Amino acid sequence: MKTSRILLFVSFIIVLTFTGCNHVFGQSEVEPFLIMIDPGHGGRDGGTPGTGRYKTTEKHIALDVSLALGKMIESKLPNVKVRYTRKKDVFPSLNDRARVANHSDVDLFISIHCNAQPGKRGTAYGSETYVLGITKNKQNLEVAKRENSVISLEDNYEETYKDFNPNSHESTLALMLAQEDYLDHSIELASYIENEFKHTAKRKTRGVKQNIFYVLAYTYMPSVLVELGFLTHKKEEDFLNSKKGKAVMTKSLFNAVKKYVKNHAQAVSVSENSTETNSGNREITNADNLIFKVQIAASSKSLETKPYNFKGLNNVSRAKENNLYKYFYGETSNYNTIKKLEEEAKTAGFKTGYIVAFKNGKKISLTEALKTTAN
Ligand SMILES: [Zn+2]
Repeated sequence: MKTSRILLFVSFIIVLTFTGCNHVFGQSEVEPFLIMIDPGHGGRDGGTPGTGRYKTTEKHIALDVSLALGKMIESKLPNVKVRYTRKKDVFPSLNDRARVANHSDVDLFISIHCNAQPGKRGTAYGSETYVLGITKNKQNLEVAKRENSVISLEDNYEETYKDFNPNSHESTLALMLAQEDYLDHSIELASYIENEFKHTAKRKTRGVKQNIFYVLAYTYMPSVLVELGFLTHKKEEDFLNSKKGKAVMTKSLFNAVKKYVKNHAQAVSVSENSTETNSGNREITNADNLIFKVQIAASSKSLETKPYNFKGLNNVSRAKENNLYKYFYGETSNYNTIKKLEEEAKTAGFKTGYIVAFKNGKKISLTEALKTTAN
């Protein structure tokens, strides 16, 4: 009796498992959580040379740690995929790094660097993890100046970066507005990283900091920039050049990423999965109510949607989401029209404006929306 009950139970589970599998395979697979790792510098841009005692510079250490981190993530975290802005000693422009991340629908962007203290003292040491923000702190400003300065090594940099001016208050405020959406998540990951450096790697940490870095300002997803330590500090330079040092820093970064993914990947999989399901072979009708808008800003402040608050733009709408006000320009179900409106918003001065899509009033990814319109 007991055995037959167990048998019955087992066959029930088997039936459930197989119908479950059929169902899953019948639909699209769950979209992986996508992380883009950005090893700083590369190619003709060596980054900081440190004390000069090593042949290796910042670009080498950044690449070693980035590749090791990516490998660890892919081998230990199922359903997480990793991409890199570079996998070898080449020099992608800052603009390309951000562009690639934006176009790949990345969930998280991690830029890895090493620090340098200006002058010859070499006394500063410890890690720092940056999120986008405005700072008046002189040391933080120096770090951003150095990391952003690689721009001048690029061809045509004056044209490419003509709108990026960290010294202009207006320009930085606009950058901040466009990123405010992601700031909470960026700070969350940055805190995990600094915490891991302190407790797992047992390093001195200088904490989570804010500053205007190009790759943080122009990536539309949670993003952090990690300074593993100072190569101008002899002991720290030795540590970061050692196999053991790199391994310890990699493991700490991995632990932080794992914690972050645990908090966020489920939500991503679930929502991606449900939109995937909707896109199946089902016919798309007007009932799906697909609407495009151009998101031009996000802020904790509630602004009146009057043209004078939005560089003269009419037809601006506002929506509140998690204590943030989002501001949109235009509203249409036609993708070509919204492309034109996006251009208009950019011409008006919202350079970081981008298209968002809603289905039945719920935000969905642009990729998903385009699949829908293509049907
Ligand atoms: Zn750097």
